[in-house]
Amino acid sequence: MIRILANDGIDAAGKQMLTDAGFEVSTTKIPQEKLITGLNEGMFDAILVRSATKVTKQALDGCPRLKLIGRAGVGMDNIDVNYAVSKGIKVINTPDASSQSVAELVFAHLYGMARFLHDSNRLMPQQGAVKFDELKKKYANGRELKGKTLGIVGFGRIGQAVAAIALGTGMKVLAYDPFIASADIFLQIDGHLGLSITIKTVEFKALLQNSDFITLHVPHSEGSMPLITAKDFNLMKTGVGIVNAARGGVISEQDLLDALNTGRVAFAGIDVFANEPHPLQALLNHPAVSLSPHIGASTIEAQERIGVELAKKVIAFFAHNS
Ligand code: NAD
Repeated sequence: MIRILANDGIDAAGKQMLTDAGFEVSTTKIPQEKLITGLNEGMFDAILVRSATKVTKQALDGCPRLKLIGRAGVGMDNIDVNYAVSKGIKVINTPDASSQSVAELVFAHLYGMARFLHDSNRLMPQQGAVKFDELKKKYANGRELKGKTLGIVGFGRIGQAVAAIALGTGMKVLAYDPFIASADIFLQIDGHLGLSITIKTVEFKALLQNSDFITLHVPHSEGSMPLITAKDFNLMKTGVGIVNAARGGVISEQDLLDALNTGRVAFAGIDVFANEPHPLQALLNHPAVSLSPHIGASTIEAQERIGVELAKKVIAFFAHNS
């Protein structure tokens, strides 16, 4: 029997598909430092991970039985993909399943920050009953998103899902992607195809200079330099709002803190951090930062789609490789 370890869990629908297909699935978490021993003792043929478990070169060398690595999600930066492929181990992911959920989280941060919810949710429990009027005054200058320009850096699946919501809310969209010249964005109204709008990408500098809000949707490989640093913040409009739901390393966290402190950046929505699961405390404490703990794909809908897509791919792989 083929044995599968879903070390960061798997949605019930996906697990059911795998067990129905005759696989034995374990969701008992093996800690990172015991991964090699655990995989070997459990005689696992495949490991499924989200972003928490790291599948390193050492793990790949230490577990000769492993034939398949499945990433429940998009980013593969926690897997040594090149090394796995060089050893003939198949690596799969579920790139399409979570785009809508990540895009909606971007707007949760944007709408929240534009009306200071990140700050009022922190202060109201302590001060709401005694300083109600002061807080009301503090948050008097909220902003509407309608009519503003959203800069989307990285115009792939998630970037385009973000564009659809932005256009639907009445925002203007600027997109930058060195590999994509233009994309047709379909706006669905009440489940029907309503409108197709073609967005041509612009130069990076033009996006930075002309956006009221900027959101990042690019890939990142561990150890590579951040895409957004002080020189980029200096090109942005004063008072810009930024969202990073891509990867922590895409933005220089220290330069972001500096830009927040000078007021160049008015607020930042951060879902992903350079040093997960131990984010920079200064970023967590900053009053102008709206925070979430890497939950872009963490919706019931996305997790079900991810689980099912992954299960289908696992079943298809072992149909030809067992
Ligand atoms: P995608 O591959 O569809 O799109 C990424 C786009 O970035 C591509 O079109 C590519 O051409 C573009 N790109 C590459 N380098 C660039 C650069 N230097 N500047 C601008 N654009 C560049 O990927 P996706 O599904 O849209 O996912 C985007 C990122 O979101 C992934 O890297 C993933 O790590 C992250 N993600 C985060 C969460 C979360 O929970 N927060 C969930 C899913 C995905």
